[in-house]
Amino acid sequence: MLNHEKSRSIFAEAQTLMPGGVNSPARSFGGVGGKPIVIEKGEGAYLYDVDGNKYLDYVQSWGPMILGHAHPAVVMAVKDALDNGTSFGAPTEAENKLAKLLIELIPAVEKIRFVNSGTEATMSAIRLARGYTGRNKIVKFIGNYHGHVDSLLVAAGSSAATLGVPDSPGVTPGTVQDTILLPYNNVEAVVKTFTERGSDIAGVIVEPVAGNMGCVIGSSNFLYELRHLTQTHGAVLIFDEVMSGFRVGKGGAAQRFSITPDLVTLGKVIGGGLPVGAYGGKAEIMDNMLPVGKVFQAGTLSGNPLAMAAGYATIKTLLEGHTFNALERKMAMLAEGLEDEAHNADLPVYVEQVGSMMTLFFLGAEKSGIGDRILETTAAGGVVMRSTATSSSGNSFSGKVTDWTSASLCDTERYARFFWGMLERGFYFPCSQFEAFFMSTAITEEEIQKTIEAAKEVFATLT
Ligand SMILES: *Cc1c(COP(=O)(O)O)cnc(C)c1O
Repeated sequence: MLNHEKSRSIFAEAQTLMPGGVNSPARSFGGVGGKPIVIEKGEGAYLYDVDGNKYLDYVQSWGPMILGHAHPAVVMAVKDALDNGTSFGAPTEAENKLAKLLIELIPAVEKIRFVNSGTEATMSAIRLARGYTGRNKIVKFIGNYHGHVDSLLVAAGSSAATLGVPDSPGVTPGTVQDTILLPYNNVEAVVKTFTERGSDIAGVIVEPVAGNMGCVIGSSNFLYELRHLTQTHGAVLIFDEVMSGFRVGKGGAAQRFSITPDLVTLGKVIGGGLPVGAYGGKAEIMDNMLPVGKVFQAGTLSGNPLAMAAGYATIKTLLEGHTFNALERKMAMLAEGLEDEAHNADLPVYVEQVGSMMTLFFLGAEKSGIGDRILETTAAGGVVMRSTATSSSGNSFSGKVTDWTSASLCDTERYARFFWGMLERGFYFPCSQFEAFFMSTAITEEEIQKTIEAAKEVFATLT
C-alpha cells in the first residue's frame, strides 16, 4: 500500500480550516470515498504527493494542463511577465495577444472579453444574452455544468450529483424561475419548448461536448436543431466550451461540428493553469457590453498579465507542435485499451471519447437496459464512438450514455474501486464516475500502455 501519512495529516488540518478541507468540492474524493491526497508538485505527465508518491495524471487540474505540468514554455512566459509586475488594472498588450489568437482560432468569436473563471464567463454570457434580447428565459440541459452560477445551478452534473445535492441550498426559487431545464440530446423537448415559448427565450446554453456528467457527446442532430431554433426565434445560442475548447480540437466543438454559435464561453486550457475565463462571439452582440453598450460586467484582475502569458504560451505551444491529432490518437489508444480489457474481464462498460477527453462508464450488468433509451448517436466530425463490443466469453454489451438519465445509472461503486485500484498503482484518475479523463502532450504511448496493463489488473478485481 502507498504511504499517505503526510497527506492524511495535512488534510486533517485542512478540514479544520476550510469546509471539508477543500476549496472546491470536486477534489474532495466524495464520489469514491476516502480522503484526497495532498499534492506537492507537478512535472510533465506526473503529480507528486507530499509523501513522495508519483502518479501519472489523467485529471490535469480538471482540464487546463493540456501540456502537462510546469511546461518550460509556460513557466518561462509566466516568469517573464512576473518580473514586470502582477496586475495593473489597466490595458496591457498581453490581452491583445491572447485575444487575437482566440479570435483567429475560434470561428464564432469576433470579439472577446476575459474574466477570471469559467463560472464568470457563463454568468456574463447569460447576462449578455438577456440584455441583448430583452428576454428572461434561459434554456439549460440536465447534467450540463456551467460553473456555480446561481441561475444555472440546477441539475448541474458532476460535483453536485456525486455528492447527492442536485440543487444547492441558497439558490432561491426566484433565481431559477427563468431557467428552463431540458434533457440533453433530446430534440423533441427542445422543439416543443421553442414552439410553446420561443419568444420568451433569451438564450440556450449548452456543453456541445459535455464533460461534467462524464464525457457525453452532443449529437449533431441535437446541436444543429439548437442552432436552427435559436436563429428562428431570435434567441442567443451559447456554447459553453470552458472544457471542450482546445480539448475536442483546435477550434473547439463549434468548429468540429461546423456550427457557429452566437457566443462561446472559454476557460481551463486558455489560462494554461492560471485563473482565466472568457466569453466571446459576434461583435454585434459583444458590443452590448459596457462601456460600448449597457450590460455591466467588470473585474479587478480580469485579463491578468500572468494569466494572459500562461494562456498564450500554452496555446502557441499546442499550435506549433501540431498536437491536436496526436492528443486524439493517444486518447483513442487509452480508450480502446481500457474498453478491450474491461470487456475481457466481462465488465460492462461504455467508453466515450472525443479529442483529448474521455470517460469510462461502468454500466453494471443489472443496468444493461439503458441502451434502449438512445435518441441519437454521434455528431459529425470524426468523433470516435464505441457502442457495442463482445467480451472474450461471448457476452455482448450494448449500453450507451447520452444524457444524465443514462449516466446516472452507472455503477459508481465499481468506479470507486477502479479509481482506488489505479491510484494505488500510481495512476491519478478523476475521483468521480461523472468526470472526464484528460490526455496531455506529456503522456507517452509507453505510459498509456502501462496504464492499460495496470487497468487490466484492477479490472480483474472488480468482477
Ligand atoms: C469547469 C467548467 C465551468 C466552470 O469553470 P470554473 O473555472 O471552474 O468556474 C463551466 N463550464 C464548463 C463546461 C466547465 O467544464
